[in-house]
Amino acid sequence: EGGMERHEYDVVVVGAGGAGLRAAIAAHEAGARTAVVCKSLLGKAHTVMAEGGIAAAMGNRWPEDNWEVHFRDTMRGGKMLNNWRMAQLHAQEAPERVQELEDWGALFDRTEDGLISQRDFGGHKYARLAHVGDRTGLEMIRTLQQRTVQLGIDVFMECTITELLEDRRDDGQSTISGAFGYWRESGRFVTFAAPTVILATGGIGKSFKVTSNSWEYTGDGHALALRAGAALINMEFVQFHPTGMVWPPSVKGLLVTESVRGDGGILRNSEGKRFMFDYIPEFFKAETADTEEEADRWYDDKKNNRRPPELLPRDEVARAINAEIKAGRGSPHGGVYLDIASRRPPEFIRKRLPSMYHQFKELADVDITKEPMEIGPTCHYVMGGVEVDPDTQESAVRGLYAVGECSGGMHGSNRLGGNSLGDLLVFGKRAGEAAAAYAAGLSARPAVAEDAVKAAQASALAPFEVSADSGGGGENPYAIQQDLQQAMNDLVGIIRTARELEESLTEIEAFKERAKRMVVEGHRQYNPGWHLAIDLRNMLLVSEAIAKAALAREESRGGHTRDDFPKTDNEAWGKKNLVVTLNAGGTGVDLSEKPLPVMPDELTKYFD
Ligand code: FAD
Repeated sequence: EGGMERHEYDVVVVGAGGAGLRAAIAAHEAGARTAVVCKSLLGKAHTVMAEGGIAAAMGNRWPEDNWEVHFRDTMRGGKMLNNWRMAQLHAQEAPERVQELEDWGALFDRTEDGLISQRDFGGHKYARLAHVGDRTGLEMIRTLQQRTVQLGIDVFMECTITELLEDRRDDGQSTISGAFGYWRESGRFVTFAAPTVILATGGIGKSFKVTSNSWEYTGDGHALALRAGAALINMEFVQFHPTGMVWPPSVKGLLVTESVRGDGGILRNSEGKRFMFDYIPEFFKAETADTEEEADRWYDDKKNNRRPPELLPRDEVARAINAEIKAGRGSPHGGVYLDIASRRPPEFIRKRLPSMYHQFKELADVDITKEPMEIGPTCHYVMGGVEVDPDTQESAVRGLYAVGECSGGMHGSNRLGGNSLGDLLVFGKRAGEAAAAYAAGLSARPAVAEDAVKAAQASALAPFEVSADSGGGGENPYAIQQDLQQAMNDLVGIIRTARELEESLTEIEAFKERAKRMVVEGHRQYNPGWHLAIDLRNMLLVSEAIAKAALAREESRGGHTRDDFPKTDNEAWGKKNLVVTLNAGGTGVDLSEKPLPVMPDELTKYFD
């Protein structure tokens, strides 16, 4: 390709969700020449779909709330596997980051006194989620996007990054020198030369059949980081949100916000029983109501009552729903009932949950102010991601940062609702500032090696070639993707066993073989088959990382439940992470273990 398009920046941010935009703003404000690259249109990122709110201990509803309580809730929600320093920074800085969004033009719902309103969510001791109805992500992305544009930050839309470029030094330490990608419309290639890249590509949900995630979530950042030599942690922990739509089939997996339960909704089985009282684990007994009367009083009097079991952390609720369905007490379409109609007046429901009201009316012809919803678990969020320094978000590769859902550590084995949006803002800002400072401090810019660009180009074009080892081609990327999604759903889902995980790894190896024989038709101009073929490599690598880590962790904790190891084993597994790296041949992943960072004494007192 003669004269390939090429740009130079100090900081290239991959992804335009909340994490990417907040990082870009920070980098720009620190004086770095900054670009944002995203594979869909600006504003289409996942963040826009966030419904419930941003967790921040502002103390507007409950003056007793503060960062220490939020920190404790986050660590307990993650079953103590979180990177303590990230959980601390997040709890301390989230209120400032929310306030700052208002300074930039966001308008949150208010309390009677005109303060930013805060709503209840699972695992949070106090009402803590700043929100805009059930459309919080929309307000957040609108605000960040407006500021990005106002500041004049360059945005490259519908441009997919397929490879990171590195300057490999003689001393073995490599540093980032840029990123390589293609324009989705023309299929033409583009190189970004930059000493720093911030990955903010979101999650991996599209590897599973039933998911609340959109087509963009193919684990690109996770895979790019692995291939560049960085490590992933917590990959066995995938969050299955308890409440996704189960019907009609075309929308199966679509999210039903936790706010429905936060605002009073309860779960019932086909016998009409409010079953969550049967599933309160020992770990949360002391703080969970054990009668319906106490649970119902809690909404108005949190001091003298304990929280309803519907608001246990997501992993607990999802497992309970799964068990009810398995026991034959499910709803006609294979879910259970989520009922707010019998609990709150229609005006309240329409005001607090406008999107849910319309979603059910339009998609399922259900009026949620009159009837219960049918819901079931859906793959929602990946706790696992790039291992980073907690203060700067830098990975093991110099100049490579990761932030938001594609980073790991903050949420441990299970994320509390509302803690992702806070994570994006707190660590987005930190990553942007750190990358800008690092770029400014360099005496010489790392070189973009021409052979690396050529290799990236060849690799992107491979799906068009019917090569010798492709055995004549014949595999279609859509078929492989579908089979992968089914296998992940069936074998690496909400309840896992060694036998099924081993089977999943055998299947993934077979998919990798089929992927070698994959051939796409047509040209490089807007060619979704080709785009999927490229994404599929990432999905396969990330799926292998999840399955391998899930097989190794012989206990149940947070978003990882082993039927054959049902206990949480603190002795064996409570103090270490499983670390995933690329194997020597680059054909798959290796696993190793690493001790958790040790929490300092002044913080351990919260967990006595
Ligand atoms: P995203 O917002 O997904 O952005 C990813 C960006 O990366 C996109 O711009 C995409 O185009 C780009 N990208 C990906 N790959 C590439 C590539 N190869 N090249 C170029 N660009 C690429 N969390 C909460 O805290 N509260 C909530 O109420 C809440 N509600 C949710 C509701 C739904 C339906 C869903 C799905 C999630 C919800 N979450 C919520 C979780 C939260 O929204 C996400 O975890 C968070 O928005 C992720 O933000 P991000 O910036 O990391 O990624």
